[in-house]
Amino acid sequence: MKNILIKIDKIRKTYNSGSTAVNALQDISLNISRGEAAAIMGPSGSGKSTLLSIIGGLNQPTEGKILIDGIDLYSLSREKRADFRREYLGFVFQQFQLIPYLNALENVMLPLTTTRYTSKQKRDMATHALHRVNMDTKANRLPNQLSGGEQERIAIARAVVNEPPLILADEPTGSLDTKTSEEIMGLFRNLNESGLTLLMVTHNPENTAYMNRTITMQDGMLISGRKNTIATNSLPFSINESAGVTR
Ligand code: ADP
Ligand code: MG
Repeated sequence: MKNILIKIDKIRKTYNSGSTAVNALQDISLNISRGEAAAIMGPSGSGKSTLLSIIGGLNQPTEGKILIDGIDLYSLSREKRADFRREYLGFVFQQFQLIPYLNALENVMLPLTTTRYTSKQKRDMATHALHRVNMDTKANRLPNQLSGGEQERIAIARAVVNEPPLILADEPTGSLDTKTSEEIMGLFRNLNESGLTLLMVTHNPENTAYMNRTITMQDGMLISGRKNTIATNSLPFSINESAGVTR
Protein backbone atom coordinates (compact mmCIF):
# COMPACT_ATOMS: atom_id res chain seq x y z
CA MET A 1 0.00 0.00 0.00
CA LYS A 2 1.38 3.37 -1.01
CA ASN A 3 0.42 5.05 2.19
CA ILE A 4 2.72 2.79 4.20
CA LEU A 5 6.21 4.24 4.67
CA ILE A 6 7.66 1.56 6.96
CA LYS A 7 6.66 -2.06 6.79
CA ILE A 8 8.15 -4.33 9.43
CA ASP A 9 7.51 -7.99 8.80
CA LYS A 10 8.13 -10.59 11.51
CA ILE A 11 11.36 -9.20 12.81
CA ARG A 12 13.45 -11.00 15.39
CA LYS A 13 16.74 -9.87 16.83
CA THR A 14 18.98 -12.06 18.94
CA TYR A 15 22.20 -10.69 20.36
CA ASN A 16 24.83 -13.26 21.13
CA SER A 17 27.14 -12.02 23.81
CA GLY A 18 29.49 -14.70 25.03
CA SER A 19 27.60 -17.84 25.89
CA THR A 20 24.25 -16.12 26.42
CA ALA A 21 21.74 -15.11 23.77
CA VAL A 22 19.42 -12.16 24.33
CA ASN A 23 16.19 -12.16 22.38
CA ALA A 24 15.87 -8.39 22.07
CA LEU A 25 12.99 -8.51 19.57
CA GLN A 26 10.55 -11.34 19.05
CA ASP A 27 8.28 -11.44 16.05
CA ILE A 28 7.59 -7.75 15.54
CA SER A 29 5.24 -6.78 12.72
CA LEU A 30 4.27 -3.16 12.36
CA ASN A 31 3.31 -0.64 9.72
CA ILE A 32 3.98 3.07 9.93
CA SER A 33 2.05 5.27 7.53
CA ARG A 34 3.33 8.38 5.84
CA GLY A 35 2.75 11.41 7.99
CA GLU A 36 2.41 9.54 11.26
CA ALA A 37 4.05 10.71 14.47
CA ALA A 38 4.48 7.54 16.50
CA ALA A 39 5.86 7.27 20.01
CA ILE A 40 7.51 4.04 21.12
CA MET A 41 7.30 3.49 24.86
CA GLY A 42 8.22 0.68 27.20
CA PRO A 43 10.54 -0.17 30.08
CA SER A 44 14.29 -0.08 29.78
CA GLY A 45 15.57 -3.17 27.98
CA SER A 46 12.30 -3.83 26.15
CA GLY A 47 13.93 -3.46 22.73
CA LYS A 48 13.01 0.10 21.74
CA SER A 49 16.48 1.19 20.67
CA THR A 50 17.05 -2.11 18.90
CA LEU A 51 13.87 -1.62 16.88
CA LEU A 52 14.81 1.96 16.01
CA SER A 53 18.34 1.02 14.95
CA ILE A 54 16.98 -1.77 12.75
CA ILE A 55 14.57 0.65 11.09
CA GLY A 56 17.50 3.03 10.72
CA GLY A 57 19.48 0.50 8.72
CA LEU A 58 22.16 0.28 11.42
CA ASN A 59 21.45 -3.14 12.88
CA GLN A 60 20.65 -6.20 10.82
CA PRO A 61 17.72 -8.23 12.14
CA THR A 62 18.26 -11.92 12.81
CA GLU A 63 15.05 -12.74 10.97
CA GLY A 64 12.37 -10.86 9.12
CA LYS A 65 12.20 -8.03 6.69
CA ILE A 66 11.87 -4.28 6.73
CA LEU A 67 10.69 -2.23 3.80
CA ILE A 68 10.96 1.54 3.73
CA ASP A 69 9.12 3.14 0.86
CA GLY A 70 8.98 -0.34 -0.65
CA ILE A 71 12.75 -0.83 -0.47
CA ASP A 72 14.02 -3.91 1.34
CA LEU A 73 16.58 -2.23 3.57
CA TYR A 74 18.83 -5.20 4.34
CA SER A 75 18.89 -6.53 0.81
CA LEU A 76 20.93 -3.43 -0.11
CA SER A 77 24.71 -3.52 -0.05
CA ARG A 78 26.37 -1.63 2.82
CA GLU A 79 27.18 1.28 0.52
CA LYS A 80 23.70 1.45 -0.98
CA ARG A 81 22.26 1.25 2.51
CA ALA A 82 24.42 4.18 3.59
CA ASP A 83 23.17 6.17 0.58
CA PHE A 84 19.63 5.20 1.45
CA ARG A 85 20.07 6.36 5.05
CA ARG A 86 21.42 9.69 3.89
CA GLU A 87 18.50 10.27 1.59
CA TYR A 88 15.62 8.90 3.65
CA LEU A 89 16.51 9.22 7.30
CA GLY A 90 17.36 11.83 9.88
CA PHE A 91 18.53 10.65 13.32
CA VAL A 92 18.23 12.48 16.62
CA PHE A 93 19.76 10.96 19.75
CA GLN A 94 19.56 11.75 23.43
CA GLN A 95 23.23 12.68 23.42
CA PHE A 96 23.14 15.27 20.70
CA GLN A 97 26.44 14.11 19.23
CA LEU A 98 27.49 17.49 17.94
CA ILE A 99 31.11 17.96 16.91
CA PRO A 100 32.60 20.25 19.58
CA TYR A 101 35.00 22.16 17.33
CA LEU A 102 32.45 22.91 14.60
CA ASN A 103 29.97 25.74 14.97
CA ALA A 104 26.21 25.23 14.74
CA LEU A 105 26.03 25.89 11.01
CA GLU A 106 28.95 23.55 10.29
CA ASN A 107 27.42 20.81 12.43
CA VAL A 108 24.18 21.10 10.48
CA MET A 109 26.09 20.93 7.19
CA LEU A 110 27.76 17.62 8.12
CA PRO A 111 25.24 15.26 6.49
CA LEU A 112 25.75 17.16 3.24
CA THR A 113 29.50 16.53 3.16
CA THR A 114 29.40 13.77 0.57
CA THR A 115 26.52 15.19 -1.48
CA ARG A 116 26.92 16.93 -4.80
CA TYR A 117 25.60 20.31 -3.68
CA THR A 118 27.88 23.33 -4.03
CA SER A 119 29.24 24.90 -0.83
CA LYS A 120 26.83 27.78 -1.28
CA GLN A 121 23.89 25.39 -1.61
CA LYS A 122 25.06 23.50 1.49
CA ARG A 123 25.26 26.72 3.50
CA ASP A 124 21.82 27.78 2.28
CA MET A 125 20.31 24.41 3.18
CA ALA A 126 21.88 24.48 6.64
CA THR A 127 20.75 28.06 7.17
CA HIS A 128 17.22 27.07 6.24
CA ALA A 129 17.34 24.10 8.62
CA LEU A 130 18.55 26.39 11.43
CA HIS A 131 15.65 28.68 10.64
CA ARG A 132 13.20 25.79 10.99
CA VAL A 133 14.40 25.22 14.56
CA ASN A 134 14.58 28.94 15.42
CA MET A 135 18.34 29.01 15.69
CA ASP A 136 19.08 31.52 12.91
CA THR A 137 20.88 33.88 15.23
CA LYS A 138 23.20 31.30 16.76
CA ALA A 139 24.72 29.79 13.64
CA ASN A 140 28.25 30.77 14.65
CA ARG A 141 28.18 29.39 18.18
CA LEU A 142 30.15 26.34 19.19
CA PRO A 143 28.16 23.59 20.95
CA ASN A 144 29.62 24.50 24.36
CA GLN A 145 28.26 28.03 23.88
CA LEU A 146 24.73 26.69 23.61
CA SER A 147 22.23 25.40 26.20
CA GLY A 148 21.05 21.78 26.17
CA GLY A 149 17.82 22.74 24.43
CA GLU A 150 19.71 24.76 21.85
CA GLN A 151 22.10 21.88 21.18
CA GLU A 152 19.07 19.68 20.71
CA ARG A 153 17.70 22.13 18.15
CA ILE A 154 20.99 21.98 16.26
CA ALA A 155 20.84 18.18 16.32
CA ILE A 156 17.30 18.36 14.90
CA ALA A 157 18.37 20.83 12.22
CA ARG A 158 21.16 18.43 11.26
CA ALA A 159 18.61 15.60 11.00
CA VAL A 160 16.32 17.56 8.67
CA VAL A 161 18.90 19.43 6.58
CA ASN A 162 18.72 16.92 3.75
CA GLU A 163 14.90 17.00 3.86
CA PRO A 164 14.46 13.28 4.56
CA PRO A 165 10.88 11.97 4.72
CA LEU A 166 11.52 10.11 7.99
CA ILE A 167 12.96 11.19 11.34
CA LEU A 168 14.02 8.63 13.94
CA ALA A 169 14.58 9.93 17.46
CA ASP A 170 15.79 7.93 20.46
CA GLU A 171 14.82 9.63 23.73
CA PRO A 172 15.51 13.08 22.31
CA THR A 173 14.25 14.87 25.41
CA GLY A 174 15.82 12.43 27.86
CA SER A 175 18.33 14.92 29.21
CA LEU A 176 16.23 18.09 29.05
CA ASP A 177 14.19 19.86 31.73
CA THR A 178 10.39 19.87 31.47
CA LYS A 179 9.98 23.28 29.88
CA THR A 180 12.71 22.69 27.30
CA SER A 181 11.26 19.24 26.55
CA GLU A 182 7.90 20.82 25.80
CA GLU A 183 9.52 23.30 23.41
CA ILE A 184 11.39 20.55 21.64
CA MET A 185 8.26 18.38 21.39
CA GLY A 186 6.40 21.37 19.93
CA LEU A 187 9.15 21.64 17.36
CA PHE A 188 8.89 17.94 16.47
CA ARG A 189 5.18 18.41 16.12
CA ASN A 190 5.66 21.32 13.70
CA LEU A 191 8.03 19.20 11.64
CA ASN A 192 5.45 16.41 11.55
CA GLU A 193 2.76 18.86 10.49
CA SER A 194 5.03 20.03 7.70
CA GLY A 195 4.96 16.47 6.35
CA LEU A 196 7.75 14.54 8.07
CA THR A 197 7.01 11.08 9.40
CA LEU A 198 8.28 10.75 12.95
CA LEU A 199 9.18 7.74 15.05
CA MET A 200 10.30 8.57 18.55
CA VAL A 201 11.39 6.41 21.47
CA THR A 202 10.47 8.17 24.68
CA HIS A 203 10.28 7.46 28.39
CA ASN A 204 8.06 10.42 29.06
CA PRO A 205 4.29 9.76 28.78
CA GLU A 206 3.72 13.50 28.43
CA ASN A 207 5.55 13.46 25.11
CA THR A 208 2.88 11.22 23.63
CA ALA A 209 0.47 14.17 23.70
CA TYR A 210 2.45 15.59 20.78
CA MET A 211 2.28 12.38 18.78
CA ASN A 212 -0.68 10.77 17.03
CA ARG A 213 0.07 7.20 17.96
CA THR A 214 1.67 5.33 20.84
CA ILE A 215 3.30 1.93 20.45
CA THR A 216 4.17 0.09 23.66
CA MET A 217 6.85 -2.57 23.94
CA GLN A 218 7.65 -5.10 26.59
CA ASP A 219 10.19 -7.94 26.55
CA GLY A 220 10.88 -7.48 22.86
CA MET A 221 7.22 -7.59 21.87
CA LEU A 222 4.61 -5.03 20.96
CA ILE A 223 1.95 -5.08 23.62
CA SER A 224 -0.25 -2.25 22.44
CA GLY A 225 -0.53 0.35 19.77
CA ARG A 226 -3.28 2.83 20.25
CA LYS A 227 -4.16 5.86 18.28
CA ASN A 228 -3.92 8.94 20.45
CA THR A 229 -7.09 10.91 20.97
CA ILE A 230 -5.41 14.16 20.01
CA ALA A 231 -4.64 12.67 16.59
CA THR A 232 -4.17 15.41 14.03
CA ASN A 233 -5.08 13.19 11.12
CA SER A 234 -6.89 9.95 10.51
CA LEU A 235 -4.37 7.62 9.02
CA PRO A 236 -5.13 3.90 8.87
CA PHE A 237 -3.73 1.96 11.75
CA SER A 238 -2.49 -1.56 12.03
CA ILE A 239 -0.12 -3.22 14.38
CA ASN A 240 1.28 -6.64 15.12
CA GLU A 241 -1.74 -8.80 14.57
CA SER A 242 0.31 -11.70 15.86
CA ALA A 243 0.41 -10.10 19.30
CA GLY A 244 -3.36 -9.93 19.30
CA VAL A 245 -3.59 -6.17 19.07
CA THR A 246 -6.66 -5.01 17.21
CA ARG A 247 -7.31 -2.06 14.96
P1 ADP B 1 15.64 -0.28 25.25
O1 ADP B 1 16.08 0.71 24.25
O2 ADP B 1 14.17 -0.52 25.29
O3 ADP B 1 16.17 0.03 26.63
P2 ADP B 1 17.47 -2.11 23.91
O4 ADP B 1 16.98 -2.29 22.53
O5 ADP B 1 18.62 -1.19 24.11
O6 ADP B 1 16.25 -1.71 24.87
O7 ADP B 1 17.88 -3.53 24.50
C1 ADP B 1 17.05 -4.69 24.42
C2 ADP B 1 17.80 -5.88 24.99
O8 ADP B 1 18.88 -6.21 24.15
C3 ADP B 1 18.41 -5.63 26.37
O9 ADP B 1 18.34 -6.83 27.11
C4 ADP B 1 19.83 -5.26 26.06
O10 ADP B 1 20.69 -5.57 27.13
C5 ADP B 1 20.12 -6.12 24.84
N1 ADP B 1 21.10 -5.49 23.93
C6 ADP B 1 20.97 -4.31 23.29
N2 ADP B 1 22.02 -4.07 22.50
C7 ADP B 1 22.86 -5.13 22.63
C8 ADP B 1 24.12 -5.50 22.06
N3 ADP B 1 24.74 -4.73 21.17
N4 ADP B 1 24.67 -6.67 22.45
C9 ADP B 1 24.04 -7.49 23.33
N5 ADP B 1 22.86 -7.22 23.90
C10 ADP B 1 22.26 -6.04 23.56
MG1 MG C 1 17.12 2.54 24.48
